[in-house]
Amino acid sequence: MKTYLVGGAVRDELLGLPVKDRDWVVTGATPEEMLLRGFKQVGADFPVFLHPDTREEYALARTERKQGRGYHGFTVYSAPDVPLEEDLKRRDLTINAMAKSVDGELIDPFGGRKDIQSRRLHHVSEAFAEDPLRILRTARFAARLQPMGFAVAESTMTLMKQMVDDGEIDDLVPERVWQEIQRALHENEPGTFFEVLRDCGALANIIPELGEDEAFAAAVRALRCVHDSHGETPARFAALMSPLSPTDARNRASRLKAPNDCQDLARLTTSLMPQIRAMSSFQPDALLRLLDEADVWRRVDRFSGLLLTLGCALPDTEHEKLGWLESAQRAAIGVEAKELMAQGFRGKELGQAIHRERLQRISTCHKTQ
Ligand code: ATP
Repeated sequence: MKTYLVGGAVRDELLGLPVKDRDWVVTGATPEEMLLRGFKQVGADFPVFLHPDTREEYALARTERKQGRGYHGFTVYSAPDVPLEEDLKRRDLTINAMAKSVDGELIDPFGGRKDIQSRRLHHVSEAFAEDPLRILRTARFAARLQPMGFAVAESTMTLMKQMVDDGEIDDLVPERVWQEIQRALHENEPGTFFEVLRDCGALANIIPELGEDEAFAAAVRALRCVHDSHGETPARFAALMSPLSPTDARNRASRLKAPNDCQDLARLTTSLMPQIRAMSSFQPDALLRLLDEADVWRRVDRFSGLLLTLGCALPDTEHEKLGWLESAQRAAIGVEAKELMAQGFRGKELGQAIHRERLQRISTCHKTQ
């Protein structure tokens, strides 16, 4: 029985990135032997074993054959004599298909280390085409590693285009697509994920509404804008959807089976865009009405930068004119009902006092810009 560190941990170690999860592959063992050594079995379809002390995952070396269309048409099997190379061969990208033995030897049958050096995301073999999810995974690794200089290799891009043309991507279920989109929204350069999907033609299946150059550029701009200030998935998804019409955003979010909070914010965002556009000149009253309509007072904890999200999908020039909106919004949100209650305001008068104070702060904030 031999044990190897595989996949992401080996890749990240070579890249000098922190290693999050360590996955292991075991050759020369049966499930019974693993249980005898104290490992705990998890997963019914294909057994993975948890180490009794470290709780890290150990999988028996496996190989797989594809029998139908889409990512579910596989049969996976393992046996003590499945060699490590067979296990690595069924992986997506060469940088993910390396292993390290317990004594530190790198096992790299597909040139992963070379591709790390030349910053290439390259498929392991033509078997890449058997699982359309790999297109989304490749786009996601591009989004993660683009700041380190990585790009999708030309031959991999050609293969991905071919897969899209063959209609393989149509078989992906929305849950898997959403899972990858959701992860991509949290990578270093989410815009790159959608650029790769556009370049290979997959975006036309996944979010066709972003096919137009202008809408696409607005979505990428919006994603960049929210990146540093908005860590929540709903705000990032709303930024992505913000160039769409409210109807398109609602239909797309629902077809993607996005969670309710993402669907809600995307709907709200797109329905308020015309009002945001109208606000490139200073109008404290209109801003306050908009804030009321967006109900930012209740959403403040989760979506405090909503207007920024909305505003930054606009072309640069308009966006600059809207620079006052975000600080004005923050100033208005800072009004505390309890401070005004301490001054004796109650009931209807309290509501009016809050309104006055918010307007006052918005105006002051504009003057100090
Ligand atoms: P992350 O840092 O995102 O966790 P990871 O490489 O560990 O990256 P996982 O999704 O945990 O990603 O997958 C573990 C390994 O399994 C990958 O490195 C890759 O080798 C392989 N893998 C996962 N999904 C696929 C797939 N659909 N097709 C081929 N190989 C895959």
